[in-house]
Amino acid sequence: MLIAEVFHSIQGEGRYVGVPSVFVRTSGCNLRCWFCDTPYTSWNPEGEQRTVDSLLEQVLGYDCEHVVITGGEPMLVKELMPLTQQLASTGHHLTIETAGSVDLDVEADLMSISPKLANSTPTDSEWTLRHNQRRHRPNVIHRLISDYDYQLKFVIDTPDDVTEVESWLDEFPQVTPDHVYLMPQATDREPLREKSAWLADIVKSHGWRLSPRLHVELWGNTRGT
Ligand code: SF4
Repeated sequence: MLIAEVFHSIQGEGRYVGVPSVFVRTSGCNLRCWFCDTPYTSWNPEGEQRTVDSLLEQVLGYDCEHVVITGGEPMLVKELMPLTQQLASTGHHLTIETAGSVDLDVEADLMSISPKLANSTPTDSEWTLRHNQRRHRPNVIHRLISDYDYQLKFVIDTPDDVTEVESWLDEFPQVTPDHVYLMPQATDREPLREKSAWLADIVKSHGWRLSPRLHVELWGNTRGT
């Protein structure tokens, strides 16, 4: 499987923010968000071909309970099934970071789903139509939130995006507000602070959660942190 990077850091978003974790980043994605902060796994996928055994050996070497498998879109990678089975059997806590548009029968303690709204669509690109056709797969979302503990993380750029989140959630009435996280769309500290301020009022009124983007606050948009 094509792996862009493996590194030890701190979870920067969602329920386990601040928890030391090993990140395994697969390369390759079925979407092309214009704001993608890992273009080396989507627009220009790069990395190294790795086996399940070599990844296991590297991850176990960190002696870290939490493992986050992210991408790219990790659910495209069939080898994740044996990799997650073996990591689960060694007592690791597994988070899978996915856009929720591809299904795969993996082991996970937390399915961390970041649905892609209309605001993610690239303009003037051969990917515009393909991205829009692929980004929302209700059957996949239903399966993931029914079979896993989950969180939903929405990237918000403007207040209009919140209206789309409300419509999106109307399709999935089983989702309770404590599973919903809003995150500011930003790769620099100043816009992150400015958007977090108005997002705080919105999450208060809905009973949702405001997620920081700790890695951006601490290190900016730096690869491998
Ligand atoms: S789904 Fe994630 S990895 Fe894929 S293009 Fe969008 S932001 Fe990038």
